[in-house]
Amino acid sequence: MPDDADSTTVPRTADEFTADSPFTLPGFFAALAEGDLLAAVCADCGERLLPPRPACYACGGRDLRVESQPKTGAVVTYTEVRTPPPALAERAPYTVAVVELDSGARLTGRLTVPHADAEIGLPVALAARPPEADELAMARDHEREWPIHEFEPV
Ligand SMILES: [Zn+2]
Repeated sequence: MPDDADSTTVPRTADEFTADSPFTLPGFFAALAEGDLLAAVCADCGERLLPPRPACYACGGRDLRVESQPKTGAVVTYTEVRTPPPALAERAPYTVAVVELDSGARLTGRLTVPHADAEIGLPVALAARPPEADELAMARDHEREWPIHEFEPV
């Protein structure tokens, strides 16, 4: 990264695509571990890409800027996971939701409440925490430092 001022805009060359760029998953999760939820906002169409991507998946635009997102929003849809990955068997059943943040960006994550207590429109806030033993058991080496995000009703 040439300087901090460039860290919010799309890297243009391979040399600029460092692991700490917010346009990479390691960079996105490093920011999340520090409490900052980042999305890339497309200058051409306004789409919010979360996690950030170097090109807009709505219009193909390459003029994107990383912005912090609010961590509050509402449940758009949800489902119950009864057959999770084997490492998470002890957690089943659990609830997964698509949440629309107050900025309009959408993010999928676990809900901290049982399926019966979830509903469309439920106001929630995102929390990030270190992975627990079962989650670490299914993490690949480069994912072990990545926080786990969950949505809690507010
Ligand atoms: Zn776009």
